[in-house]
Amino acid sequence: MTETKHNICTLCSMGCGLLIEVNDGFPLALEYEADCPVSEGALCAKGNYALELLNHPFRLGEPTKNGSVIGWDAAIAEVAQAPCSPKSALIVEGDLSDEEARSVMEFACACLQPENVAISFSTNDDKVVRALNNVPVPRASIDDLKSSVCTIAVNDPFSVGPVVARWVMRARNAARENTLNVIAASEGIISEFATVKLTGLVRASLLGLLKKLIEIKGDSAPEWARAAADDIAGLNVPEDEAGTARLAQEFLKAPSAAIVLSTSDPVEARLAAGCCLVAGAAKKLFLVNEYGNASGISQNAVALGSVRGILAKVARGEIDALIVLGADLVASYPKTDVEGALRKLRFLAAGAAFPNKTTALASVVLPTAIWLEKDGTFNGMPQRAVAPPTGAALPYGDILEMIERETDVKPAHVTATLEGPIELNGEFMAHLVSEATEPAVAPAIIPSPTRFADGSVTDHLSWPQALAAGM
Ligand code: SF4
Repeated sequence: MTETKHNICTLCSMGCGLLIEVNDGFPLALEYEADCPVSEGALCAKGNYALELLNHPFRLGEPTKNGSVIGWDAAIAEVAQAPCSPKSALIVEGDLSDEEARSVMEFACACLQPENVAISFSTNDDKVVRALNNVPVPRASIDDLKSSVCTIAVNDPFSVGPVVARWVMRARNAARENTLNVIAASEGIISEFATVKLTGLVRASLLGLLKKLIEIKGDSAPEWARAAADDIAGLNVPEDEAGTARLAQEFLKAPSAAIVLSTSDPVEARLAAGCCLVAGAAKKLFLVNEYGNASGISQNAVALGSVRGILAKVARGEIDALIVLGADLVASYPKTDVEGALRKLRFLAAGAAFPNKTTALASVVLPTAIWLEKDGTFNGMPQRAVAPPTGAALPYGDILEMIERETDVKPAHVTATLEGPIELNGEFMAHLVSEATEPAVAPAIIPSPTRFADGSVTDHLSWPQALAAGM
């Protein structure tokens, strides 16, 4: 029987709707959801490859041990040796549902030391989301983007969530006086459309804009912002003075305006939020993430360890058994000798949807489901699987439950507690200014095979080559 199932794309945070035609559980075709308020039926290159992720010939379909197929019972029996030891750790890729994020928290508290459990976001999306979680800045909706008279794109949000370009460009072209402005390290395609473009260090440009906004607003600037005015005035911000002044004027006079932000730097995120807050009502922030559900995961899994912290322990021999689900650690941290560290482990189990450099080092390899194959909440929206998982693949949450059952550990009930909103005061501004003048350390942004259909599946063209070679 052929039926059409609805889901959303999670290959970035825009959440475009998509329809998958399924015949007796087999995904046949991808259709566009014309009524989707985000995309109006459009999908970018990443979303267009969603079907290929489901039906790709290289998907892992069976648990294996040292290259030989074993069933899930045997695989879980192997993996269950790892938990419940201070020398065991778990790392899960940041493409989880909210429910799976809670399962990771429960697993962390029931089986492991929480600092030995981490969710991997190789793009820093989690840090950016958390940096904004407690800053009370108004968030822009798609409708706000449509009616924005002055939009400021920070870095290149069009490349991360291409459908946002539709709304930004439509708003810019809705009236002659409307503007699109760009703050970025260097000029890109989006700069071609910019009325004002501030090019150079993004932290410095945003700090320059914040400084100018406070200066222009004078006594009408919020008291907490004025408290740091002297500190900011004394800073030698490398800025395009004329461009910054024009941008600040445009932003302030616009009856509705938005900063559309794509960044891996939490300080840039807070500076952009600071600009909106100083400029006042109707100045809103729109965040575009690489990870579709970074926000939901950050709310449901808190106070865990970090991937780098766990890898450092592995390198020092303080962790000897590691379970990795989804994350390709070797590919995600190319400036660190992750492979050397992983080779020191007594036991490594790696789960993934596709073979990768980390599964190549693991004795036990577990096939995992992608988001379209599981029920769960993504981007705040409950979704149903459009097709059963490939082969014997399972969602991360099911794998963690099986390990808990095998080890007879009762899942811990965990309530995630987020920090409350911070108080906007001089201390906040002083901290922001001091952070902003530190040099930014950009993380290596490495596409992972499970997240970027265009990056890993189509750029390398590995499977057609392999098929041609008769593999
Ligand atoms: S990657 Fe983002 S912009 Fe592209 S289709 Fe998916 S949700 Fe939409």
